[in-house]
Amino acid sequence: MNLFRNFKSVTKTCYGRGSFDKLGEILEPQRSANKQFMVFVVDDYFADKEDFRKRIPARSEDEIHFISSLKEPSTTQIDALRDDVLARRGLPAGIIGIGGGTVMDIAKATSLMFTNEGSSVQYQGLNLIKKPGIYHCGVPTISGTGAEVSMTAVLTGPVKKLGLKCDWTVLDQIVLDPDLIATVPQDQWFYTGMDTYIHSVEAITGTKKNTFAEAYSEKALELCREVFLKRDRKDPKSDEFLMVASYMGGLSLTYSEVGVCHALSYGLGKVLEIHHCLANCIAFDKLEDVYGDNVQEFKGMVKHNNIHIPQGLAKGWSEETISAMAEVAYNLPHMWDHAFGPEWEKVLDRERIKGWYRRM
Ligand code: NAD
Ligand code: ZN
Repeated sequence: MNLFRNFKSVTKTCYGRGSFDKLGEILEPQRSANKQFMVFVVDDYFADKEDFRKRIPARSEDEIHFISSLKEPSTTQIDALRDDVLARRGLPAGIIGIGGGTVMDIAKATSLMFTNEGSSVQYQGLNLIKKPGIYHCGVPTISGTGAEVSMTAVLTGPVKKLGLKCDWTVLDQIVLDPDLIATVPQDQWFYTGMDTYIHSVEAITGTKKNTFAEAYSEKALELCREVFLKRDRKDPKSDEFLMVASYMGGLSLTYSEVGVCHALSYGLGKVLEIHHCLANCIAFDKLEDVYGDNVQEFKGMVKHNNIHIPQGLAKGWSEETISAMAEVAYNLPHMWDHAFGPEWEKVLDRERIKGWYRRM
Protein backbone atom coordinates (compact mmCIF):
# COMPACT_ATOMS: atom_id res chain seq x y z
CA MET A 1 0.00 0.00 0.00
CA ASN A 2 1.32 3.45 -0.85
CA LEU A 3 0.87 6.05 1.80
CA PHE A 4 1.04 9.74 1.26
CA ARG A 5 3.36 11.30 3.80
CA ASN A 6 5.11 14.63 3.80
CA PHE A 7 7.89 14.33 6.30
CA LYS A 8 10.46 16.71 7.66
CA SER A 9 14.11 15.61 7.71
CA VAL A 10 16.96 16.64 9.98
CA THR A 11 18.13 19.99 8.60
CA LYS A 12 21.89 19.42 8.79
CA THR A 13 23.96 16.27 9.20
CA CYS A 14 27.67 16.00 9.85
CA TYR A 15 29.20 12.49 9.70
CA GLY A 16 32.68 11.12 10.17
CA ARG A 17 35.29 10.21 12.75
CA GLY A 18 36.34 13.30 14.68
CA SER A 19 33.31 15.34 13.61
CA PHE A 20 32.46 15.96 17.29
CA ASP A 21 35.31 18.48 17.32
CA LYS A 22 33.38 20.55 14.74
CA LEU A 23 30.48 21.06 17.14
CA GLY A 24 31.72 24.44 18.42
CA GLU A 25 31.98 25.79 14.91
CA ILE A 26 28.56 24.36 14.02
CA LEU A 27 26.88 26.02 17.01
CA GLU A 28 28.51 29.42 16.51
CA PRO A 29 25.90 30.89 14.10
CA GLN A 30 23.07 29.81 16.44
CA ARG A 31 24.36 31.57 19.52
CA SER A 32 22.83 35.02 18.91
CA ALA A 33 19.24 33.86 19.51
CA ASN A 34 17.20 34.57 22.69
CA LYS A 35 19.39 35.00 25.81
CA GLN A 36 22.48 33.85 23.92
CA PHE A 37 23.46 30.79 25.90
CA MET A 38 23.39 27.09 25.10
CA VAL A 39 22.16 24.22 27.26
CA PHE A 40 24.04 20.94 26.89
CA VAL A 41 22.33 17.81 28.17
CA VAL A 42 24.90 15.03 28.39
CA ASP A 43 24.63 11.37 29.43
CA ASP A 44 26.12 11.13 32.91
CA TYR A 45 28.39 8.30 31.76
CA PHE A 46 30.61 11.18 30.59
CA ALA A 47 30.48 13.17 33.86
CA ASP A 48 33.84 11.85 35.07
CA LYS A 49 35.48 11.42 31.66
CA GLU A 50 37.72 14.47 31.79
CA ASP A 51 39.08 14.14 28.26
CA PHE A 52 35.59 14.03 26.83
CA ARG A 53 34.30 16.89 28.99
CA LYS A 54 37.08 19.12 27.70
CA ARG A 55 35.88 18.49 24.16
CA ILE A 56 32.32 19.71 24.85
CA PRO A 57 32.35 23.20 23.29
CA ALA A 58 30.55 24.92 26.18
CA ARG A 59 31.39 28.55 26.88
CA SER A 60 31.32 30.21 30.29
CA GLU A 61 27.74 31.42 29.72
CA ASP A 62 26.51 27.95 28.75
CA GLU A 63 25.15 25.20 31.00
CA ILE A 64 26.00 21.51 31.08
CA HIS A 65 23.49 19.16 32.70
CA PHE A 66 24.66 15.59 33.19
CA ILE A 67 21.64 13.34 33.02
CA SER A 68 21.17 9.71 34.02
CA SER A 69 19.68 7.42 31.39
CA LEU A 70 18.87 4.73 33.94
CA LYS A 71 15.21 5.61 33.51
CA GLU A 72 13.62 6.53 30.21
CA PRO A 73 12.68 10.23 29.94
CA SER A 74 9.54 11.37 31.73
CA THR A 75 7.19 14.31 31.34
CA THR A 76 7.98 15.52 34.88
CA GLN A 77 11.70 15.48 34.14
CA ILE A 78 11.25 17.59 30.98
CA ASP A 79 8.92 20.08 32.69
CA ALA A 80 11.32 20.47 35.62
CA LEU A 81 14.36 21.05 33.40
CA ARG A 82 12.50 23.65 31.34
CA ASP A 83 11.08 25.44 34.41
CA ASP A 84 14.48 25.53 36.13
CA VAL A 85 16.36 27.00 33.15
CA LEU A 86 13.63 29.53 32.30
CA ALA A 87 13.37 30.73 35.91
CA ARG A 88 17.12 31.22 36.33
CA ARG A 89 18.26 32.31 32.87
CA GLY A 90 15.36 32.83 30.46
CA LEU A 91 15.11 31.31 27.00
CA PRO A 92 18.32 29.65 25.74
CA ALA A 93 19.57 29.98 22.17
CA GLY A 94 19.58 26.22 21.79
CA ILE A 95 19.83 22.81 23.40
CA ILE A 96 22.29 20.07 22.51
CA GLY A 97 21.76 16.43 23.50
CA ILE A 98 24.92 14.30 23.75
CA GLY A 99 24.06 10.68 24.51
CA GLY A 100 21.75 7.89 23.40
CA GLY A 101 18.05 7.80 22.58
CA THR A 102 17.28 8.86 26.15
CA VAL A 103 19.33 12.07 26.11
CA MET A 104 18.51 12.97 22.50
CA ASP A 105 14.79 12.62 23.30
CA ILE A 106 15.29 14.85 26.34
CA ALA A 107 16.90 17.51 24.12
CA LYS A 108 14.13 17.20 21.51
CA ALA A 109 11.30 17.38 24.03
CA THR A 110 12.81 20.19 26.11
CA SER A 111 13.42 22.27 22.98
CA LEU A 112 9.67 22.16 22.31
CA MET A 113 8.65 22.72 25.92
CA PHE A 114 10.76 25.88 26.18
CA THR A 115 8.23 27.58 23.90
CA ASN A 116 5.00 25.67 24.55
CA GLU A 117 3.23 26.48 27.79
CA GLY A 118 2.09 24.08 30.48
CA SER A 119 3.08 20.49 31.04
CA SER A 120 4.49 18.21 28.35
CA VAL A 121 1.74 15.72 29.31
CA GLN A 122 -0.78 17.70 27.28
CA TYR A 123 1.36 17.42 24.14
CA GLN A 124 1.91 13.64 24.13
CA GLY A 125 0.56 12.59 20.74
CA LEU A 126 0.65 13.62 17.10
CA ASN A 127 0.79 17.31 16.13
CA LEU A 128 -0.38 18.68 19.48
CA ILE A 129 2.58 21.07 19.84
CA LYS A 130 1.53 24.65 19.05
CA LYS A 131 4.83 26.46 18.35
CA PRO A 132 8.31 25.57 17.07
CA GLY A 133 10.85 24.94 19.80
CA ILE A 134 14.32 26.42 20.14
CA TYR A 135 17.32 25.24 18.08
CA HIS A 136 18.13 21.62 18.95
CA CYS A 137 21.05 19.46 18.06
CA GLY A 138 21.75 15.76 18.70
CA VAL A 139 25.07 13.97 19.09
CA PRO A 140 24.55 10.21 19.45
CA THR A 141 27.02 8.32 21.63
CA ILE A 142 25.31 4.95 21.11
CA SER A 143 23.61 3.85 17.90
CA GLY A 144 20.47 2.04 16.89
CA THR A 145 17.27 3.75 18.01
CA GLY A 146 17.14 6.20 15.10
CA ALA A 147 16.13 8.90 17.62
CA GLU A 148 18.63 11.11 15.77
CA VAL A 149 16.35 11.19 12.70
CA SER A 150 12.85 10.53 14.01
CA MET A 151 10.02 13.04 14.43
CA THR A 152 9.21 11.90 17.95
CA ALA A 153 10.56 12.33 21.46
CA VAL A 154 9.26 9.42 23.53
CA LEU A 155 8.16 10.37 27.06
CA THR A 156 6.69 8.39 29.92
CA GLY A 157 3.83 10.36 31.43
CA PRO A 158 1.38 9.66 34.27
CA VAL A 159 -0.93 7.77 31.90
CA LYS A 160 0.78 7.22 28.57
CA LYS A 161 4.21 6.33 27.24
CA LEU A 162 3.92 8.37 24.09
CA GLY A 163 6.01 10.78 22.06
CA LEU A 164 5.75 14.48 21.38
CA LYS A 165 5.44 13.92 17.68
CA CYS A 166 5.46 16.68 15.08
CA ASP A 167 7.68 18.27 12.42
CA TRP A 168 9.24 20.60 14.99
CA THR A 169 10.48 17.64 17.03
CA VAL A 170 12.98 16.74 14.30
CA LEU A 171 16.51 17.84 15.16
CA ASP A 172 17.97 20.90 13.41
CA GLN A 173 21.42 19.37 13.41
CA ILE A 174 23.01 16.00 14.08
CA VAL A 175 26.68 15.23 14.47
CA LEU A 176 27.44 11.56 13.81
CA ASP A 177 30.92 10.72 15.06
CA PRO A 178 31.59 6.94 15.10
CA ASP A 179 34.45 7.47 17.58
CA LEU A 180 31.91 8.33 20.27
CA ILE A 181 30.30 4.89 20.43
CA ALA A 182 33.53 2.96 21.04
CA THR A 183 33.06 2.84 24.82
CA VAL A 184 29.51 1.44 24.90
CA PRO A 185 29.44 -1.85 26.89
CA GLN A 186 29.11 -4.90 24.64
CA ASP A 187 25.58 -6.02 25.66
CA GLN A 188 24.17 -2.49 25.46
CA TRP A 189 25.89 -1.93 22.09
CA PHE A 190 24.12 -5.03 20.81
CA TYR A 191 20.66 -4.33 22.31
CA THR A 192 20.56 -0.77 20.97
CA GLY A 193 22.09 -1.80 17.64
CA MET A 194 19.37 -4.42 17.26
CA ASP A 195 16.74 -1.70 17.46
CA THR A 196 17.70 -0.61 13.96
CA TYR A 197 17.79 -4.23 12.74
CA ILE A 198 14.28 -4.75 14.11
CA HIS A 199 13.01 -1.40 12.77
CA SER A 200 14.24 -2.43 9.33
CA VAL A 201 12.72 -5.93 9.48
CA GLU A 202 9.39 -4.63 10.74
CA ALA A 203 9.33 -1.80 8.22
CA ILE A 204 9.42 -4.17 5.26
CA THR A 205 7.38 -7.07 6.58
CA GLY A 206 4.01 -5.44 6.67
CA THR A 207 1.30 -3.80 4.65
CA LYS A 208 2.40 -0.16 4.81
CA LYS A 209 5.83 -0.40 3.25
CA ASN A 210 6.69 1.11 -0.09
CA THR A 211 9.86 1.39 -2.16
CA PHE A 212 11.09 4.35 -0.15
CA ALA A 213 10.89 2.31 3.09
CA GLU A 214 12.43 -0.72 1.41
CA ALA A 215 15.42 1.20 0.09
CA TYR A 216 16.43 2.45 3.55
CA SER A 217 15.56 -0.79 5.23
CA GLU A 218 17.58 -2.99 2.87
CA LYS A 219 20.68 -0.84 3.26
CA ALA A 220 20.31 -0.78 7.04
CA LEU A 221 19.99 -4.58 7.10
CA GLU A 222 23.04 -4.98 4.90
CA LEU A 223 25.06 -2.77 7.25
CA CYS A 224 23.76 -4.66 10.30
CA ARG A 225 24.90 -7.95 8.75
CA GLU A 226 28.37 -6.48 8.30
CA VAL A 227 28.49 -5.26 11.90
CA PHE A 228 26.84 -8.13 13.74
CA LEU A 229 27.65 -11.18 11.61
CA LYS A 230 30.63 -10.66 9.34
CA ARG A 231 32.90 -8.40 11.34
CA ASP A 232 34.19 -8.05 14.82
CA ARG A 233 33.36 -5.08 17.04
CA LYS A 234 37.05 -4.14 16.98
CA ASP A 235 36.97 -3.72 13.20
CA PRO A 236 37.12 0.08 12.74
CA LYS A 237 34.43 -0.11 10.04
CA SER A 238 31.91 -1.63 12.48
CA ASP A 239 31.02 1.53 14.37
CA GLU A 240 31.05 3.58 11.14
CA PHE A 241 28.54 1.16 9.62
CA LEU A 242 26.41 0.97 12.74
CA MET A 243 25.96 4.71 12.95
CA VAL A 244 24.71 4.86 9.37
CA ALA A 245 22.55 1.75 9.90
CA SER A 246 20.81 3.49 12.81
CA TYR A 247 20.09 6.52 10.63
CA MET A 248 18.80 4.38 7.73
CA GLY A 249 16.72 2.14 10.00
CA GLY A 250 15.11 5.26 11.44
CA LEU A 251 14.27 6.53 7.97
CA SER A 252 12.89 3.13 6.91
CA LEU A 253 10.03 3.91 9.29
CA THR A 254 9.10 7.27 7.77
CA TYR A 255 7.17 5.44 5.07
CA SER A 256 6.25 2.39 7.10
CA GLU A 257 5.54 1.30 10.67
CA VAL A 258 6.93 -0.90 13.38
CA GLY A 259 5.15 -4.21 13.96
CA VAL A 260 4.63 -7.11 16.35
CA CYS A 261 7.97 -6.88 18.17
CA HIS A 262 7.58 -3.21 19.03
CA ALA A 263 3.98 -3.71 20.15
CA LEU A 264 5.13 -6.43 22.59
CA SER A 265 8.11 -4.31 23.59
CA TYR A 266 5.83 -1.42 24.57
CA GLY A 267 3.99 -3.80 26.93
CA LEU A 268 7.29 -4.85 28.54
CA GLY A 269 8.35 -1.21 28.83
CA LYS A 270 5.12 0.19 30.22
CA VAL A 271 4.36 -2.58 32.75
CA LEU A 272 7.84 -3.77 33.77
CA GLU A 273 9.95 -0.73 32.83
CA ILE A 274 12.28 -2.85 30.69
CA HIS A 275 14.30 -0.53 28.44
CA HIS A 276 13.11 -0.27 24.83
CA CYS A 277 16.06 -1.97 23.13
CA LEU A 278 16.46 -4.84 25.60
CA ALA A 279 12.68 -5.39 25.53
CA ASN A 280 12.82 -5.61 21.72
CA CYS A 281 15.52 -8.28 21.90
CA ILE A 282 13.58 -10.31 24.48
CA ALA A 283 10.49 -10.20 22.26
CA PHE A 284 12.14 -10.64 18.85
CA ASP A 285 13.94 -13.77 20.07
CA LYS A 286 10.53 -15.47 20.44
CA LEU A 287 8.84 -14.30 17.24
CA GLU A 288 9.92 -16.98 14.81
CA ASP A 289 6.31 -17.60 13.77
CA VAL A 290 6.08 -13.99 12.57
CA TYR A 291 9.57 -12.99 11.43
CA GLY A 292 10.93 -16.47 10.50
CA ASP A 293 14.35 -16.23 8.88
CA ASN A 294 15.07 -12.87 10.46
CA VAL A 295 14.71 -14.38 13.92
CA GLN A 296 17.14 -17.11 12.91
CA GLU A 297 19.52 -14.43 11.68
CA PHE A 298 19.07 -12.49 14.94
CA LYS A 299 19.97 -15.61 16.92
CA GLY A 300 23.09 -15.94 14.79
CA MET A 301 24.03 -12.36 15.65
CA VAL A 302 23.47 -13.04 19.36
CA LYS A 303 25.83 -16.02 19.14
CA HIS A 304 28.46 -14.29 17.01
CA ASN A 305 28.74 -11.46 19.53
CA ASN A 306 28.41 -13.64 22.62
CA ILE A 307 25.41 -11.72 23.96
CA HIS A 308 23.06 -12.72 26.75
CA ILE A 309 19.34 -12.39 25.98
CA PRO A 310 17.33 -12.97 29.19
CA GLN A 311 15.30 -16.21 29.08
CA GLY A 312 12.55 -17.75 31.19
CA LEU A 313 11.21 -14.40 32.37
CA ALA A 314 7.57 -15.39 32.02
CA LYS A 315 7.98 -17.92 34.85
CA GLY A 316 8.13 -14.99 37.22
CA TRP A 317 5.14 -13.13 35.74
CA SER A 318 1.64 -13.36 37.19
CA GLU A 319 -1.43 -13.66 34.95
CA GLU A 320 -2.24 -10.04 35.86
CA THR A 321 1.16 -8.88 34.62
CA ILE A 322 0.77 -10.78 31.36
CA SER A 323 -2.77 -9.43 30.89
CA ALA A 324 -1.62 -5.87 31.59
CA MET A 325 1.17 -6.15 29.01
CA ALA A 326 -1.20 -7.71 26.47
CA GLU A 327 -3.60 -4.82 27.01
CA VAL A 328 -0.88 -2.23 26.31
CA ALA A 329 0.18 -4.12 23.17
CA TYR A 330 -3.36 -4.74 21.91
CA ASN A 331 -4.07 -1.02 22.06
CA LEU A 332 -1.54 -0.19 19.35
CA PRO A 333 -3.80 -0.74 16.32
CA HIS A 334 -1.53 1.06 13.84
CA MET A 335 1.21 -1.53 14.49
CA TRP A 336 -1.18 -4.50 14.09
CA ASP A 337 -2.71 -2.95 11.00
CA HIS A 338 0.77 -2.73 9.49
CA ALA A 339 1.76 -6.24 10.59
CA PHE A 340 -1.42 -8.09 9.62
CA GLY A 341 -3.46 -5.71 7.44
CA PRO A 342 -6.69 -3.80 8.09
CA GLU A 343 -8.50 -6.98 9.11
CA TRP A 344 -5.95 -7.73 11.83
CA GLU A 345 -8.65 -8.33 14.42
CA LYS A 346 -9.49 -11.56 12.59
CA VAL A 347 -6.03 -13.00 13.26
CA LEU A 348 -5.12 -11.34 16.52
CA ASP A 349 -6.75 -11.29 19.92
CA ARG A 350 -5.47 -10.74 23.45
CA GLU A 351 -4.94 -14.49 23.92
CA ARG A 352 -2.50 -14.67 21.00
CA ILE A 353 -0.57 -11.75 22.45
CA LYS A 354 -0.46 -13.42 25.88
CA GLY A 355 0.89 -16.54 24.18
CA TRP A 356 3.86 -14.56 22.90
CA TYR A 357 4.56 -13.14 26.36
CA ARG A 358 4.38 -16.63 27.92
CA ARG A 359 7.24 -17.76 25.65
CA MET A 360 9.63 -15.07 26.94
P1 NAD B 1 20.24 5.12 26.30
O1 NAD B 1 20.31 6.53 25.93
O2 NAD B 1 19.11 4.70 27.18
O3 NAD B 1 21.62 4.66 26.97
C1 NAD B 1 21.83 3.29 27.29
C2 NAD B 1 23.07 3.13 28.15
O4 NAD B 1 24.25 3.36 27.39
C3 NAD B 1 23.12 4.09 29.33
O5 NAD B 1 23.57 3.39 30.45
C4 NAD B 1 24.16 5.11 28.90
O6 NAD B 1 24.81 5.70 30.00
C5 NAD B 1 25.10 4.26 28.10
N1 NAD B 1 25.92 4.97 27.11
C6 NAD B 1 25.51 5.82 26.13
N2 NAD B 1 26.57 6.20 25.37
C7 NAD B 1 27.66 5.60 25.90
C8 NAD B 1 29.04 5.59 25.55
N3 NAD B 1 29.49 6.24 24.48
N4 NAD B 1 29.88 4.85 26.31
C9 NAD B 1 29.43 4.13 27.38
N5 NAD B 1 28.14 4.10 27.73
C10 NAD B 1 27.26 4.82 27.01
O7 NAD B 1 20.26 4.19 25.02
P2 NAD B 1 19.41 4.03 23.72
O8 NAD B 1 19.15 2.59 23.61
O9 NAD B 1 20.07 4.77 22.62
O10 NAD B 1 18.04 4.79 23.98
C11 NAD B 1 16.88 4.22 24.54
C12 NAD B 1 15.84 5.30 24.62
O11 NAD B 1 15.54 5.75 23.30
C13 NAD B 1 14.52 4.89 25.23
O12 NAD B 1 14.15 5.91 26.13
C14 NAD B 1 13.56 4.84 24.08
O13 NAD B 1 12.22 5.18 24.45
C15 NAD B 1 14.12 5.89 23.18
N6 NAD B 1 13.80 5.70 21.76
C16 NAD B 1 13.46 6.80 21.05
C17 NAD B 1 13.16 6.69 19.71
C18 NAD B 1 12.77 7.91 18.95
O14 NAD B 1 12.48 7.80 17.76
N7 NAD B 1 12.77 9.06 19.52
C19 NAD B 1 13.23 5.46 19.06
C20 NAD B 1 13.58 4.34 19.80
C21 NAD B 1 13.89 4.47 21.16
ZN1 ZN C 1 12.63 0.84 18.35
